[in-house]
Amino acid sequence: MRVLVLGAGVVGTASAWYLARAGHAVTVVDRQSDAGLETSFANGGQISVSHAEPWANPEAPLKILKWLGREDAPLLFRLRADLRQWMWALRFLHECLPARTRANTREILALALDSRAELQRLRRETGIEYDQRARGILHFYSDARELERAIPRAQAMAAFGCEREVKSAAECLAIEPALAHSRVPIVGGTYTASDESGDARKFSQALARLAEAKGVHFRFGCAVERLEVECGRLAGVVVRDAQTREERLSPDACIVALGSYSPLLLRPVGVSIPVYPLKGYSITVPLSPGELAPTMSLTDEGAKLALSRLGNRLRVAGTAELGGYDDDINRVRCRAIVSRTRELFPQLGNTECAEPWAGLRPATPSNVPVIGRTRYPNLYLNTGHGTLGWTMACGSGRAIAEIVSGRVPELDFGFVGVERRPVQVAASGAR
Ligand SMILES: Cc1cc2nc3c(=O)[nH]c(=O)nc-3n(C[C@H](O)[C@H](O)[C@H](O)COP(=O)(O)OP(=O)(O)OC[C@H]3O[C@@H](n4cnc5c(N)ncnc54)[C@H](O)[C@@H]3O)c2cc1C
Repeated sequence: MRVLVLGAGVVGTASAWYLARAGHAVTVVDRQSDAGLETSFANGGQISVSHAEPWANPEAPLKILKWLGREDAPLLFRLRADLRQWMWALRFLHECLPARTRANTREILALALDSRAELQRLRRETGIEYDQRARGILHFYSDARELERAIPRAQAMAAFGCEREVKSAAECLAIEPALAHSRVPIVGGTYTASDESGDARKFSQALARLAEAKGVHFRFGCAVERLEVECGRLAGVVVRDAQTREERLSPDACIVALGSYSPLLLRPVGVSIPVYPLKGYSITVPLSPGELAPTMSLTDEGAKLALSRLGNRLRVAGTAELGGYDDDINRVRCRAIVSRTRELFPQLGNTECAEPWAGLRPATPSNVPVIGRTRYPNLYLNTGHGTLGWTMACGSGRAIAEIVSGRVPELDFGFVGVERRPVQVAASGAR
């Protein structure tokens, strides 16, 4: 089949790779000059199955109220006169119910576990390099009560295949000695040895080169203008290139992987998805040779920050702001990340050279992505990966390639428009 993938972020590029591997003739269209130049550009770098619990959880409403109006709040709702934003916020509140959080965590865990394994397989098969480190992720806490509340939730994840070992403060420092100078008190944490990290932009671009070698055609600098439907099918995709020439592409199948911009292209053809931009920030600190810097990936649960060592750089990312499609860099929010980094690692010399960045997470209220079919038989979705798009990219890419090829993925996940596989029950009756 001739398959068109819209968007060359980490999700679109992974989709293209798996579609090509399944034998399809694939073209990818993106408005940027290469893969991974929007939200996949400078994220937290974590392949973090251990981060499967969504922002929407029973503790969130109180925290959001407490943080309201605080410019440096980890999660900030800037409510505007935008009905879609209010609808998203209401659905977010609904997803905070304990039963919803449990169900969403399960879905995310299933996909994230599968995706991490798929990324490892891809690495073995292709030797792809992206400043990866497979040394686990340590979540550390600075508040004893927060840690106490987190322990049963972490243990519950083990039932679904994600081990999170509880660690004392001393054990945390032994795992990451660079934390020894921290001015933030560290009271303990959880450690997931099988989690990883790496640069999502480097990965997207390296995978795009590998996909090109497999025959995938990337059309960069080419903006998607609109989708056109006729007789109940997607009939064409109108694109505009750098010379502002308009062209109508007519693939056999098309996958929308446009990140936060996916709903804007889908709405005019009557496909509604609950994706809304959730802005986040990162800083990238250059490291000097021999500096006592983190050597692995960390999550600072007190400030809700993800930290990853990417070659000779330290990436620190986090905060979420529900405020529409504005990707300007808010200096106050970036300064808050820089000062927390200095408190954690006062020994680092180059924090004043930190490079700030902002990106729009394509967020659903539940943080469960929208992957599968639309009501048009040749129009598919692979979007809405929110806080975990890098973690879930390979699994989502392989799954959409299977769906487009007419197969039901083996994964126990709620794919849209695809019948869920009955859960396999072992002879003993255990799952
Ligand atoms: C601060 C921050 C930290 C994060 N940390 C992590 C982390 O540690 N681990 C993790 O797993 N995830 C993390 N994420 C989430 C992750 O980065 C995203 O979920 C992921 O990048 C989304 O990928 P995507 O391909 O769906 O979107 P994008 O990367 O945004 O790709 C969409 C593509 O579509 C293109 N596009 C859009 N509209 C058009 C159009 N009209 N025409 C043509 N092209 C178009 C864009 O150019 C872009 O290349 C973080 C996000 C942020 C913001």
